[in-house]
Order: sequence, then structure tokens, then C-alpha cells
Amino acid sequence: MADDCVFCKIAAGEIPATRVYEDDDTFAFADLNPQAPTHALVVPKRHFADIVDLSKDAEAGAAMLRGIRATAEATGLGEFRTVFNTGAQAGQTVFHVHAHVLGGRRMQWPPG
Ligand code: AMP
Ligand code: ZN
Repeated sequence: MADDCVFCKIAAGEIPATRVYEDDDTFAFADLNPQAPTHALVVPKRHFADIVDLSKDAEAGAAMLRGIRATAEATGLGEFRTVFNTGAQAGQTVFHVHAHVLGGRRMQWPPG
């Protein structure tokens, strides 16, 4: 667990969250500020800062993809958008890697 990491604290049960999926390696919970009818955040239980960090561990990366698929299934999404913001300029505000899984409405492109 990284010091002062909000998603490590959610993983440890120290901060409440509405969990929608969990397995041995990952879990998913509802975003506090949803941008779509369904908006879940999928996170590895181990701390990685971002996808650059996560990509150095092949098994953890594969587990993340499984977690995304399973979260989409668990929330009833057949079609969905997955977003990884990487770095502050790209909009990352929590530096524990997370996939935004968004669905339930038609998405626009390009993103802002
Ligand atoms: P990002 O800006 O890509 O780093 O995404 C961080 C996301 O985490 C934002 O969409 C926030 O709404 C969400 N968030 C931050 N704290 C919490 C929390 N305690 N529970 C649920 N979602 C959170
Ligand atoms: Zn963390």
C-alpha cells in the first residue's frame, strides 16, 4: 500500500466505496462523480501509479484486462468505453492506475 493513496485505502476497506466487482487481483467500484449512467473504476489491488508502471508486470496487466471485462459483464455493459488517463496533463488526478469503464449512453468522439 502506498502512503496517502485513496485507492489503496479503498482496497484496504479504510474508505467506503460501492463495489461492483472483485477478484483476487482487481476490484471495481462506482465513480463518485459519474460521467455516464454506468461509470466504474477498475483498479489492481497492488499499487501501480499508471499504465506505464503497470505495463512492466505482464501478469498484473493481464489481470487488469480480465478485471475490465468482468466489470463490464457484472454491470451489464455489452458496449462500453475504457479510459486510462496517464499524467496530470491527460487528466489523471489519482495516481493509482485505474480504468474508467463507462457505458449506458452513446459516446462522443473526440474526447475533450
Ligand atoms: P482520474 O481523473 O482519471 O485520475 O480519475 C479519478 C476518478 O476517481 C475521478 O473520476 C473521481 O471522480 C474518482 N474518485 C476519486 N475519489 C473517489 C472515491 N473515494 N470513490 C469513488 N471515486 C473516486
Ligand atoms: Zn494505491
